[in-house]
Amino acid sequence: MDASRHDRALAALLGLAVGDALGMPTQELSRARAEQLLGAGPVLLEGPADNPVCPGLAAGSVTDDTAQALLLARLLVDGHGRVDPHDLADRLLGWETAMAARGSLDLLGPSTKAALLAVRGGADPATTGRAGTTNGAAMRVAPVGVATPPEPLAALVDAVVAAGQVTHDTGTAHAGAAAVAAVVAAGVDGAAFDAALPLAVRAAREAGLRGARPDDQDVAGRIEAALALVRSGARGGRPAADGGSALLDAVATRVGTTLATHESVPAAFAVAALAAGDPWRAAWFGARLGGDADTVAAMAGACVAACTGTAALPPDVVAQVVAVNGLDLGPLVEGLLALRAAR
Ligand SMILES: [Mg+2]
Repeated sequence: MDASRHDRALAALLGLAVGDALGMPTQELSRARAEQLLGAGPVLLEGPADNPVCPGLAAGSVTDDTAQALLLARLLVDGHGRVDPHDLADRLLGWETAMAARGSLDLLGPSTKAALLAVRGGADPATTGRAGTTNGAAMRVAPVGVATPPEPLAALVDAVVAAGQVTHDTGTAHAGAAAVAAVVAAGVDGAAFDAALPLAVRAAREAGLRGARPDDQDVAGRIEAALALVRSGARGGRPAADGGSALLDAVATRVGTTLATHESVPAAFAVAALAAGDPWRAAWFGARLGGDADTVAAMAGACVAACTGTAALPPDVVAQVVAVNGLDLGPLVEGLLALRAAR
């Protein structure tokens, strides 16, 4: 197996987990409160007492983003590249039951929960995702980018749509997921983050035509606008002067950080671009946004790390996140890359 490809694939999943853990404490908080907690520098914090979903959660803990991505990865490997919708519904609902039993308040998102309960109730899985426009498909899609080459793009988009359909079968959700998957797929093949961006925008545009509803939010256009926003600010020299704070204010207010796909996915691309190829910094910028900070940081971390490899992630942080969550990513990465080689 190609060592550099394996390393970048592993980095995609580690970047996701590390970003998720860094953003865990600031999720659902305001931009100001997130900046107060993390503005001085990136550090894995315990869930603060004023966090509505993760008070007291151990530092380094990942959330639903990593859990669902790894669950999808396992499903892809077990299904030889095919995502069985009933299996996905069973495993996600089983995961939520286990989390709830442990007292977690961070459970399935709104689109995902409604769709999975419908599938369990006997609904056709081809119909259950028709209302899903939130970022659940994009937050869990990184393994699809590991398991699928970036070209032909139509095949990558097919794989993204298949992985998202049960819960998020809309142009908006598919577009966001396709953009993330395209960067991961290109990164695993050796692309730098900036070089992967045109493919991500094309993927979003193509995937936005899929699903039950058109992408009326123009996710591809919003990604381009978010990238233009940080590039114009970065040229003014502000990130060096204030740690990126003014640009993050602009991302929070002008791009948005809710769990809507058309806000959080462009926000992830903005912070990833702002980080100039450093996945830990990308995650840090995402975590400081507040709002859906864990998901933005997870998506940004996965995208940038897929393009750098594991050497760009701080080893002590990776070790802590792996230990706290009992992650064993090696076998999953090998399984996903075997699927990629067979496509
Ligand atoms: Mg989360």
